[in-house]
Amino acid sequence: MLVLVVNAGSSSLKSQLIETDGKLCLMKCLAQKVGTPEASMSVAFSPEFQKVKYNVAGFTVEQCLAKLLDVLVEDPESPIGSLDQIDAIGNRVVAGGEYFTRATLIDDEARGHLAEIEELAPLHNPVADQCIDLLREAMPNTPQVAVFDTAFHQTMPPKAYMYPLPMRYYNDYHIRRYGAHGTSHRYAAQQAANLLRRSLRDLGLITCHLGNGGSITAVNHGKSIDTTMGFTPLEGLMMGTRSGSIDPAIITYIMRKEGKTFDEMDHILNNESGILGITNESSDMRDVLESADAGDEEAELAIDMYVYRVQKAIGSYYAAMTRTDAVVMTAGIGENSARLRERIFEGLAHMGMILDKQRNDVEGAIGVNRIISIDDSPIKICVVTTDEEVRIARETDNLVSQL
Ligand code: AMP
Repeated sequence: MLVLVVNAGSSSLKSQLIETDGKLCLMKCLAQKVGTPEASMSVAFSPEFQKVKYNVAGFTVEQCLAKLLDVLVEDPESPIGSLDQIDAIGNRVVAGGEYFTRATLIDDEARGHLAEIEELAPLHNPVADQCIDLLREAMPNTPQVAVFDTAFHQTMPPKAYMYPLPMRYYNDYHIRRYGAHGTSHRYAAQQAANLLRRSLRDLGLITCHLGNGGSITAVNHGKSIDTTMGFTPLEGLMMGTRSGSIDPAIITYIMRKEGKTFDEMDHILNNESGILGITNESSDMRDVLESADAGDEEAELAIDMYVYRVQKAIGSYYAAMTRTDAVVMTAGIGENSARLRERIFEGLAHMGMILDKQRNDVEGAIGVNRIISIDDSPIKICVVTTDEEVRIARETDNLVSQL
């Protein structure tokens, strides 16, 4: 089955064309920093995967997707000459609320429910919905599936997903922890089990998705039992532009002091905080590491805070599980930054997570799943390349095949 996977983020678009039968990737597209002056989009086709760049300055994520559809039809390197050759579309959707507990075929009813839960992930869900609408119009006969980041976390027990608020907020508004990045945590856990040559059912894992957004999950016997993201993807770790967990009283304090509206406060917490908020320069960890090397004290502080919060989250999940066999690092920072991994695990050796500095820092190992702890580390440390697109393609194939 030929599946177009669309992973629309707040400021990025990742897309792949995947032939699920042969597990082949035929096209990769990446648009980054969309909506900023540095926006860029590249498309590459198999077998060479030579990237061709497109000017997407001033584009929205949805317009980047429209451009990609044009390229798919018009580029002589493209394996398809018409969009009709695509059998199904798999969309990554961050928040599924309590309504969507598994991957779902998008019909009018499902589209209506998607609209109702947009506010659960205000940076992501509306963008994904716009992309779904564009695809429904451009490819009306192609089945579309939504694969939800929250679905993996539906196994959390009430003690993990309930907030200590008046019960009526759960009963009336379904306010509870939903988590996110579920597709990535599930995949990272399975890949780690493969690396450890053990069944996922026998393992206690702490999976760390550290990218522009970030979350950590306690995966016990293959099931998510707790995760740092909450009712929305704002809770938990310090992120690129999101504050993560802060004292909730700060929000009303600032609103009163500066007369901020709800929308303005939302924007501050989601778009102006986190690494960007502390450095006042960039939300991108690579830039921040460079600035820290050049002696920028705020960049150094941002890295210190980031590392400390990751360490505390790993520690809390060590406490939440009855056993911990491995910590798994994935996504942009987790996969690529040996330096940050070293900083994080420097502080966790006393818990039995002992990094092997050489294995951590192997040149050219980027993209290779591997164990980076010393041989007799009581808790192993793994690096896993997240492949959300492949997982989304598989889930889409499973659902559409049953039609
Ligand atoms: P993602 O959201 O998974 O694409 O991850 C994006 C984040 O990963 C950004 O903050 C990047 O700066 C960061 N990142 C990617 N490569 C590296 C690297 N080699 N060193 C440090 N951070 C990186």
